[in-house]
Amino acid sequence: MKSATNQQSENPMAKLPSVDYLIQQSAQRFQSTYGLPELTKVVRLVLQEVRQTLLSEASTRSYVDEDYLRCIEQKLTQRAEKKVKAVLNLTGTVLHTNLGRAVLPKEAVDALTLAASEACILEYDLGEGKRGDRDQLIEELLCELTGAEAATVVNNNAAAVFLLLHALSEKKETIISRGELIEIGGSFRIPDIMKRAGVKLVEVGTTNRTHAKDFMEAITPKTAMIMKVHTSNYAVQGFTAHVEDDVLAQIANDHQIAYVVDLGSGNLVDMSLFGLPKEPTPMEALKSGAHLVTFSGDKLLGGPQCGMIVGSKELIAKIKKNPLKRMLRVSKLTLAALEAVLHLYRNPVRLPEKLTVLGQLTRTRENISLQTARIVSHLNPYFEGTNLTISSQDVMSQIGSGSLPIDLLPSSAVVISGKSKSAEKMILRFEKLLRKAAIPVIGRIKEQQLILDLRCLRENQEEILNQTIQKVFQELYPNS
Ligand SMILES: *Cc1c(COP(=O)(O)O)cnc(C)c1O
Repeated sequence: MKSATNQQSENPMAKLPSVDYLIQQSAQRFQSTYGLPELTKVVRLVLQEVRQTLLSEASTRSYVDEDYLRCIEQKLTQRAEKKVKAVLNLTGTVLHTNLGRAVLPKEAVDALTLAASEACILEYDLGEGKRGDRDQLIEELLCELTGAEAATVVNNNAAAVFLLLHALSEKKETIISRGELIEIGGSFRIPDIMKRAGVKLVEVGTTNRTHAKDFMEAITPKTAMIMKVHTSNYAVQGFTAHVEDDVLAQIANDHQIAYVVDLGSGNLVDMSLFGLPKEPTPMEALKSGAHLVTFSGDKLLGGPQCGMIVGSKELIAKIKKNPLKRMLRVSKLTLAALEAVLHLYRNPVRLPEKLTVLGQLTRTRENISLQTARIVSHLNPYFEGTNLTISSQDVMSQIGSGSLPIDLLPSSAVVISGKSKSAEKMILRFEKLLRKAAIPVIGRIKEQQLILDLRCLRENQEEILNQTIQKVFQELYPNS
């Protein structure tokens, strides 16, 4: 103990300033912006870090006031940074669930800004001057666009499926083909959802083939519905058989039970109009006799996260009466954005130009490769004489979010590659540093190449990409 005290005169710890002293020194510059509690916390953190550095380096390095102020400023700015920040999605997956799925069109952004910053009509009937129903904001539009009698919106499509099952089939049976007992990323499994909703799942048929008689034979007095789930994230090919919508609808009608379809990605126009692979639409399912159809708002529809249930007035009324509806309801921000997106569908011809997601999906390889060529020729000089090369390559993008799983879109990418073992390591570091940039750039690594698919890069983001790659390059090759 005694010797410790003796050593203290040479110990740099002894010279650490007090928390109060550092607050006094920095208050004028930082307190009004960040507040005293935050400044105090940061001063404590900085002192702790300095103490640790000194201990671990066992150094006698001394910190002057300016050093402390610099550290304090750095930490304050760092802590003020938001976790939700913009990134460049160059993954080649347009609807990337981990990157927020659909980027909203300007019309939707304007609508949600307005709904966020003003008091707005949400559940208020202007004509009557009293309480209304928030679904009314979009029900008419949804019915118009899908041909449904009624519609309701909840937090996402998983919630839509759950609510529907719970409201219409609790303590009863729901029949589904074995080929459709799907799992969708992030723990959405049809059998689990059924169990949680209190529904008895009745599986029929086999993985590859299910016939009409399989459904008919499974119907009992306890059957509430037949459900069809669009197998959106995989395809069963080869010796397969499934039962068409109109046949299932007929079976359901004959037995006075419901026929419901979970479409997953619900697009409100025929995507083949825009040269994209054809996906079933809610209108087609309803026309074939489905009583209810559920689909997502932020997949191909190109809107905010939500889930829609459209179809029979009587069934929707039952669903809306279920207490879970209140828990799963959407916010005014979602409704405002959804309404704006639905409006765009009234003019399908202008959709690719207006709806961001469709614009991204319909970009041609020719158009994207102009961008790749520009970027590669700009950055090429940097890479000369290193173990890496930068080039332009034809690649295939994915739609994502389980939409159209086997259909890929011709695209073009900036590719950073290299053959040697050392190059391989460099490519991994390149990818990591791009992710950690001020505006993170998210690409993908495949066969020792870093692939940056430019499908989702806007023209006004090209410069950001150029500068970010340049900066990372300089960090990895400080001497070139
Ligand atoms: C994506 C998907 C869901 C889940 O939708 P979320 O909007 O992500 O909740 C459910 N069913 C199918 C068939 C899907 O493709």
